Amino acid sequence: MDKVIAANWKMNKTASEAQGFMARLKELFDGAVPEGREVIVFAPFTALEATARSAGALGWVQAGAQNLYPAEKGAFTGEISADMIRSAGAGIVLTGHSERRHIMGEDDKTVASKTLFALQHGLKVMLCIGETLEEREQGLLRNVLERQLITAMSFDAGLLSGHSFYVAYEPVWAIGTGRTATPSDIAGAHALCREIMRSIAGDEAFSIPLLYGGSVKASNAGEILLLDNVDGVLVGGASLEAEQFSKIITA
Ligand code: PEP
Repeated sequence: MDKVIAANWKMNKTASEAQGFMARLKELFDGAVPEGREVIVFAPFTALEATARSAGALGWVQAGAQNLYPAEKGAFTGEISADMIRSAGAGIVLTGHSERRHIMGEDDKTVASKTLFALQHGLKVMLCIGETLEEREQGLLRNVLERQLITAMSFDAGLLSGHSFYVAYEPVWAIGTGRTATPSDIAGAHALCREIMRSIAGDEAFSIPLLYGGSVKASNAGEILLLDNVDGVLVGGASLEAEQFSKIITA
């Protein structure tokens, strides 16, 4: 499986800044396609179309959205539908990011309904899961990962086909803090995630890309990507500059 290198720009970049980033990425790779890598950029809604257009021209980057609302259309002021995301040229969406869970108050049920809705409406999904520091210190890692995965993956296994579902393990205490989990923390949590995913989806679980996220940067990406059960990285802060992000792509 190619390693998945995903950027989460969060609430950063206008449409023209996104275009500038993609143009710089093109220059940095000078016409070459990074080998053995699947690259995704999760852009804010207002930069989604511009990102998708540039990504399409580059040919090896996919554009993704950071959120969606689980309804076809209607009276949901301020929300964005799966159809709108697809019509902007994006084919994948993040669900359950820790900032949505902990700042916007999304619970497991909401994350599950967004995940199912997106899969049923032609979008691929990258589901984010992970424990807080308090939960880890209380020995609740397995409980939290089981609860988050079992609730969000309560969909028909048929929806898993066609490389449509990804999972990103992101310990909340390592996101945006500069504090990276140790290689043994990551390998341990990823083995646990894979075991839980297998109990839900059987052997299909081995074809679900399992990414690590939390203060990944050019200097630690290579080591993380070599760990067992790590199929890629989801990168926040260090994905904002094309130079840094290109080094992570080639790490
Ligand atoms: C993220 O937003 O998913 C993330 C991992 O952020 P950072 O790399 O900044 O910790």
